[in-house]
Amino acid sequence: MKKEKKIKVSFPHMGTVYIAWAAALEKLGIEAHVPPYTSRKTLSIGTKYSPEAICLPYKLILGNFIEAIEGGADYVSMITSPGICRLGEYGKSIYNTLKELGYGEKYIELNLYDGIKGMYNYISLITNSHNPIKKLNAIIIAIAKVFALDKIEDCLSYYRAREINSGESEKKFKKTLELIKNAKTVRETNKAVKTALSEMSKIKINKEKDVLYVDLTGEIFLVLDYFANQNICRELGKMGVQVRRSLTVSGFLKDAIIPKWFRKGETHLERAYRLAQPYLMRDIGGDALECVSDVMYAKEKGKDGIIHISPFTCMPEIMSQNIFPKMREDVNIPILSLIMDEQTGKAGYLTRLEAFVDLMNRKKMKKNFDNSLVEASKE
Ligand code: SF4
Repeated sequence: MKKEKKIKVSFPHMGTVYIAWAAALEKLGIEAHVPPYTSRKTLSIGTKYSPEAICLPYKLILGNFIEAIEGGADYVSMITSPGICRLGEYGKSIYNTLKELGYGEKYIELNLYDGIKGMYNYISLITNSHNPIKKLNAIIIAIAKVFALDKIEDCLSYYRAREINSGESEKKFKKTLELIKNAKTVRETNKAVKTALSEMSKIKINKEKDVLYVDLTGEIFLVLDYFANQNICRELGKMGVQVRRSLTVSGFLKDAIIPKWFRKGETHLERAYRLAQPYLMRDIGGDALECVSDVMYAKEKGKDGIIHISPFTCMPEIMSQNIFPKMREDVNIPILSLIMDEQTGKAGYLTRLEAFVDLMNRKKMKKNFDNSLVEASKE
């Protein structure tokens, strides 16, 4: 009997998010076509077919799509939203480019701001299944994997800053990613997280090491995608910095997808509205409101510094960068703004990170010295 050919659906990489996409599609009996890992080639293909001044994530996503289609994907999935910035136009523009290249019929869209209903409609579009349980299961496994991935990535940051043998945490992390990838159910995913955490706890570390604590905020794609941010968390980890990503997909899901009655505590967006004031009073698109509030949050949590990363020409993040000088005066916390595009070279970028780490170290030493003087004066 001839085996029925499964349709192949592809999606952008965006850090480890592709693992969750793949899990959902496989639950629906669809073949997940993971595009080649984002590379210079991806970027040059994306840049070739993009409007000149468009932001970096657009170019990388378009590059991912073209590589996926040329590699045999039947469809490519794009996440859209009615954003105030250019994100609202991404979908139409990518569709038009793919159409000009003769790939128009391969494009499908997922509007995340339609919440669970949007995800359900998207699934109905790519599958012939009328089984709502199957569709819900696909959504649930994707959500479970997103939370699992964020958890082990946070854990990686702790070990990487303290590891004794350089590169050991990264190797372990890559192995644990396979566990998450291979989990077929939510129960298996939870079990994989436990195994992953226990495996990572075997990494040899210096628990006494005086590490720096830094929050990473900015435009979400840049915060999450290793290629786009030139693996900033790994570079900082090598310098003894434990990085907490302020923007994560699990955080985004709590705000946009997971219904209120299922979640605990304040979400990132709720906190953003509370903490961004008086510097920014309303959502101006992208992640600007979150970024401004993240500076206040880093201050509240006693972090040693905060790094803001964004693509060149990103409109909302240009606004937040212009608010930071005023915030610097008020919160007395080092803030580093990094702007990325296809021309950003590695050497200059690393030099800026090293200088920032030096600055934070000096500030921390001074703070410790001042505290010791206060303690001494009490005796
Ligand atoms: S947030 Fe910035 S990078 Fe993202 S789509 Fe909007 S303008 Fe482009």
